[in-house]
Amino acid sequence: TLRGKTAIITGSNSGIGLGIAQELARAGADVVINSFTDRPEDHALAASIAAAHGVKARYIAADMADGGACRGLVERAGSCDILVNNAGIQFVAPIDEFPTDKWNAILAINLSSAFHTTAAALPGMRARGWGRVVNIASAHGLTASPYKSAYIAAKHGLVGLSKTTALETAGQGITCNAVCPGYVLTPLVEAQIPDQMKAHGMDRETVVREVMLSRQPSRQFATTEQLGGTVVFLCSPHADQITGTTISVDGGWTAL
Ligand code: NAD
Repeated sequence: TLRGKTAIITGSNSGIGLGIAQELARAGADVVINSFTDRPEDHALAASIAAAHGVKARYIAADMADGGACRGLVERAGSCDILVNNAGIQFVAPIDEFPTDKWNAILAINLSSAFHTTAAALPGMRARGWGRVVNIASAHGLTASPYKSAYIAAKHGLVGLSKTTALETAGQGITCNAVCPGYVLTPLVEAQIPDQMKAHGMDRETVVREVMLSRQPSRQFATTEQLGGTVVFLCSPHADQITGTTISVDGGWTAL
């Protein structure tokens, strides 16, 4: 059980991050959920997690594109035993047409935010002699596809950051790993479908089956609950010696 532990999950008011927050709360952890918005429904989401699982849950708004705000999130949480770096965005375009502002935003949110939150969280984890850093990378942290240069560069970078974090914390009761999902049907994936339809000249159903799930041999999307369960496992004593590696939840994508 994770009772008494505090988990911060970045980018967790929807999709995979929300699924991870729910599974960590189910396992007994107090959770801090986050995004860059500060709406009543964001805080209501935290209240509903608290009520459902009998844990403390708070929503803290912080923009993961801003390094100072990333560090501020960890400070405002007060304590961070489990850090899940999940915030991420996507943009699809060929390299020679890729907008520089999109490149910079993707590198900041998908990669640099994890550097800043990890830097802010490690001193407290070391002081308590226990910690878990889980970075949500992607099958695109291990393999590439065309038109996703910034995302793939950031996710490969996040896998590398996970390994270095593991080496710097080895033997200190702290582990760091990257979870690499294949396709999970969330708003981020939903938003890619129109671009993919345009790029490939296909209708929705065909692009989902033939393009998006073409590299996922199971031809099934992974679920946010399965991602949450993987993070809970990495927080369990069974995973004490799992550090500096990647766990793929991708229906066989990276076996191809
Ligand atoms: P999503 O769009 O549902 O969730 C992204 C989350 O990040 C949202 O909560 C959003 O509010 C938040 N976010 C975006 N910009 C932010 C910012 N500047 N500051 C703070 N929060 C911000 O997408 P998702 O599919 O749940 O993606 C979650 C993570 O999983 C991402 O890192 C993504 O790259 C990764 N991933 C997703 C898939 C997939 O198939 N869905 C596959 C592999 C990896």
